[in-house]
Amino acid sequence: MSCKPISDIGEFGLIERIASIVAPTCETTPKLVKGIGDDCAVYELSSSLFQVATTDLLLEHVHFDLLTTPLQHLGSKALTVNISDICAMNAKPCYALVSIALPAKASVELVEAVYRGMSETARLYNTAIAGGDTSASPGGVTISVTVAGEVEKENISYRKGARPGDLVCVTGTLGGAAAGLKVLMREKNVMLEHVKHGENYDKDVMSNLEEYNEAIRQQLLPSARVDIIDFFHKNGIVPTSMIDISDGLASDLAHICKRSGVGAHIEESRIPILSQTRHIADEFQEDAVNFALSGGEDYQLLFTLKAEKFSAVASHPDISIIGKITPADEGLLLTDIYGMNIDIQKISGFNHFQV
Ligand code: ADP
Ligand code: MG
Repeated sequence: MSCKPISDIGEFGLIERIASIVAPTCETTPKLVKGIGDDCAVYELSSSLFQVATTDLLLEHVHFDLLTTPLQHLGSKALTVNISDICAMNAKPCYALVSIALPAKASVELVEAVYRGMSETARLYNTAIAGGDTSASPGGVTISVTVAGEVEKENISYRKGARPGDLVCVTGTLGGAAAGLKVLMREKNVMLEHVKHGENYDKDVMSNLEEYNEAIRQQLLPSARVDIIDFFHKNGIVPTSMIDISDGLASDLAHICKRSGVGAHIEESRIPILSQTRHIADEFQEDAVNFALSGGEDYQLLFTLKAEKFSAVASHPDISIIGKITPADEGLLLTDIYGMNIDIQKISGFNHFQV
């Protein structure tokens, strides 16, 4: 048997292969309404209610670096990124199962700090931490979190429901998490240089990070937009499709378009970007719009709405309408600030196994 490296097909190609192998198992569970392919699996609980469930892995050296990540923030983010996937179904979180693998030499205090951060965040989102598993690790810390949530059947949003003419909307601001990561990595390298030369690394050497505070917060301590789900439910809004932005606007919009069989046309000038993110991009001689399109980890919601719902969201201070859904043959276009159309499918988001 010839063996193909995973990097040949990438993360999404690999998930497609896994999906084809496990598909027969889904047929044995008729109440499973949606298996692989959305932000959560969907299971019918009763005639009016769906349960949604999601899981995410966080690996040291892949997803986080203990040199730049406070432990409480790490615990918080591990839970938040899952709750964000629950929100992407227009659902509310109920409870979490948390598994952790640690080297034997890791301290008890490290674990306690991670769980304190996670508990605080769990309280914030009315989510119980109801169990999990613990194991030794041959190297590095791994955290795996699974969250279950609920949604009334008539309120569920999948990736697949967008139709031509729908508005394309995002919450919050984009690109901040990628900008924050740039600053943290720069600071880490300065610190390592000092340590290498036996010099002190203290407040005198450290940059004044205050001016980067919001972008760093977005990287280390993102929020899940449960507040937006509450707003939707209170106002009878059901997005025609929704996803959370974990890989970058370009890639996550492409997921919605692929699942819905449509195209999209968005405008650069409408993409919400913090001025701090723009400053950081300038400092690194990069483009803030690229942070938004392919930086990822913003955990904002990207959703589509019927055009007649315009007034229901237009006045919300934290929702931006960035474009509209088009027929599939029009592709995925971004009109830049000079009026040029760019094919977004050529911009890739984060993809594990890229070499
Ligand atoms: P998200 O970014 O929203 O967490 P992913 O890109 O990780 O979503 O996953 C996309 C879909 O593939 C989801 O439905 C997820 O459950 C499924 N998936 C990812 N990895 C695996 C795996 N190893 N086995 C089965 N399903 C998987
Ligand atoms: Mg998601």
